[in-house]
Amino acid sequence: MNNFFCIIILLFSFSCKNEQATPLANITETASTKQTASVQDPYQEYDLLFKENPQYISFDFDYPIGKPDGKGYYNAQKFLENNHLGDDWNGVGGGNTDLGDPIYAIANGYVSFSDTIGGGWGNVIRIIHRFKDKYYESIYAHCDSLLIEKGDFVKKGVQIGTIGNVGGIYWAHLHFEVRDNIFMEIGNGYSIDSKGYIDPTEFINKN
Ligand SMILES: [Zn+2]
Repeated sequence: MNNFFCIIILLFSFSCKNEQATPLANITETASTKQTASVQDPYQEYDLLFKENPQYISFDFDYPIGKPDGKGYYNAQKFLENNHLGDDWNGVGGGNTDLGDPIYAIANGYVSFSDTIGGGWGNVIRIIHRFKDKYYESIYAHCDSLLIEKGDFVKKGVQIGTIGNVGGIYWAHLHFEVRDNIFMEIGNGYSIDSKGYIDPTEFINKN
């Protein structure tokens, strides 16, 4: 009896294999392609957010300090100077004269982070911008106060925080980054590898 069933099963599995060899391969390929598209599209979350909130899509950019056009401030350490991955905005008065001054959102966007980070970062704000069907991130570091929360949407030019000095470890200034890869870790602020980072001043002037 056992032998009989074994033979039946064997015969059955052989016939299945032969018949389905080609279609099985096709099915597997289609399934894995679909999975890549639906599960691994990292932009899907933001596509949906901005589709539901189109009034927060960006059309132009402005400086994060000193309305208009950074008036009263200078860029003390430019992008890529000393491997710096952003701009350091300081008040023309020097020292801590800019401590507590307003920081503005450079464009419409979605606040993906607003909290304190250890080390030299202090309080940090991260905003995701959708602009011309691409995504950019602006990062505002060493803030004295945070006036917005993760999950907020912001309009260009609204005050989002104030300039700080991380408990006195720096003279007060705004460390400001713009990235065209929105999925990177906070990083170090300095690196010889600037992939994913763009020149904030050049980007704002151009847009
Ligand atoms: Zn800096």
